[in-house]
Amino acid sequence: MIDSTVNVPPGVNEVARSYAPGTPERDELLRTLASLASQPVEPCSRVGAKDVRTGDLVPMRAPHKHALSLGAWHSAPASVMDDAIAAAREAAPGWAEAPWSTRAAVFMKAAELLTTKYRSVVVAATMLAQSKTAHQAEIDAACELIDFWRFNVGYLPRILGEQPLSGGGAWNLLDHRPLEGFVLAVTPFNFTAIAGNLPTAPALMGNVVVWKPSPASMFSTHFVLEVLREAGLPPGVINVVLGDPAALVDRALASRDLAGVHFTGSTEVFRSIWARVGAGVGEGRYRSYPRLVGETGGKDFVFAHPSADVDALATALIRGAYEFQGQKCSAASRAYVPASLWPALRAKLMDVLPTIPVGDVADLSNFMGAVIDRRAYDRLTGAVQQALADERCEVLHHGADDREGWFVRPTLVRTTDPSHPLMQRELFGPLLTLFVYADSWYEDALARCANDSEYALTGAFWARDRAAIAHAHTVLRQAAGNFYVNDKPTGAVVGQQPFGGGRASGTNDKAGAALNLLRWVSPRTIKETFVPPVAWRYPYMG
Ligand code: NAD
Repeated sequence: MIDSTVNVPPGVNEVARSYAPGTPERDELLRTLASLASQPVEPCSRVGAKDVRTGDLVPMRAPHKHALSLGAWHSAPASVMDDAIAAAREAAPGWAEAPWSTRAAVFMKAAELLTTKYRSVVVAATMLAQSKTAHQAEIDAACELIDFWRFNVGYLPRILGEQPLSGGGAWNLLDHRPLEGFVLAVTPFNFTAIAGNLPTAPALMGNVVVWKPSPASMFSTHFVLEVLREAGLPPGVINVVLGDPAALVDRALASRDLAGVHFTGSTEVFRSIWARVGAGVGEGRYRSYPRLVGETGGKDFVFAHPSADVDALATALIRGAYEFQGQKCSAASRAYVPASLWPALRAKLMDVLPTIPVGDVADLSNFMGAVIDRRAYDRLTGAVQQALADERCEVLHHGADDREGWFVRPTLVRTTDPSHPLMQRELFGPLLTLFVYADSWYEDALARCANDSEYALTGAFWARDRAAIAHAHTVLRQAAGNFYVNDKPTGAVVGQQPFGGGRASGTNDKAGAALNLLRWVSPRTIKETFVPPVAWRYPYMG
């Protein structure tokens, strides 16, 4: 027992390693990549203290190298979800009663392990599993996940310290209880940091969790779990179930003990989860109203005013649309450019796009790797084929090759129709569609940008004209939960740009901020009266 007011170190953002030639981290990363590529693993479900190996193996391959096997994961039947829920329930009382400093210590240690011993392993695993370059894997799997763990721990005492007024012979307290039941974490393939954050944020607040990771990132998930295990996370606090997503999630949503869902992924899947939970609430299935937190799709914009700096705009479009093959929820996928800037911008983009190196991410000279799987490859190449046949579109740059990996080259389409499906639909790949507006049509173009999309995740506005920036703040206010001025719409940093959007992009509960952690507690108000009255008559009664 520690009887004191415990402080935690203030959150400081982890500095990204450069992996530049000649640095020790580059050598270490290359060695780790080679060693992971030659040691296939078999991830499996973890229920309480038990590893569940079913023998029903699903192969894992690097998206950029079909020939590279990363091993195979054990697919579990839906009944294992019931076992995981039971294990969570068993662990719940002990975890809820643990002092907050004990819970915080687990995640502080996890952050430290990831900064040191496990850094190159988790970065290399993310490169191999999700085809991220060294830089993209570093800012995700190392820096962002370390930041999530450190900053969330930093918010915890502030949340707990939020207490009501006392006086008049009474003492008032807020007890930040965990939710009653378990939280289901359902994570996407594209960010190892999000995969690590969704189950751990509720756990830090004292909840028990069942985590269903994405089949497409089992390899990197496996190493994140090793970090958590070594950090001393007690068995049963976060249980992991690998298997058929719809069957497992269905089973979890059927449980009376479902207390919350922490989801990141596509809008379509989150809507279906919401509908199923809504039906369950209607039937009185749950003990309480499950908290639903979901960060979902985007159709993120870059809007250029005629006063924009074209060189910087071109760089923002290239990085914002094509890094990690455009598979960031925040990636720029629609742009609005004034006719007065288009010739210069077009020349810049068309100079650069053919020279962008795309290939095996273990070759650190590449800027892009492969898209995640055949489904993504087919979706993107199909969209390009449709654009090539569409008279409203001019395909300015494209290319794809699936012989060695799922490679889609940076793709640029110009459309004459601002409402074209390519300006509306999330394609989740390196495909940027651009609409060139007449400068005299500026206000209409801005209004189209603000209102045409069902999504409202990220967006960027480019101008040197201060009045135009002020005006855009107003017109585009509801168009993005993360709004950038003269920057690309990607690359949010924990503690600096809390992340999340509105409309069909999610519940906007801002991952990496105290706002998110508040969703995982159910406060109890306590009033203790020290000397209770003994007379029942009030003075006004004479
Ligand atoms: P996805 O929706 O295919 O999968 C997300 C999770 O849901 C995975 O664990 C998956 O196995 C599971 N799932 C899939 N089908 C399901 C079903 N029928 N029932 C229950 N669960 C199911 O998304 P993805 O391809 O992994 O990730 C890409 C999507 O995630 C994009 O739409 C992207 O915009 C979004 N995303 C959003 C954010 C954000 O913060 N807003 C961040 C990252 C990704």
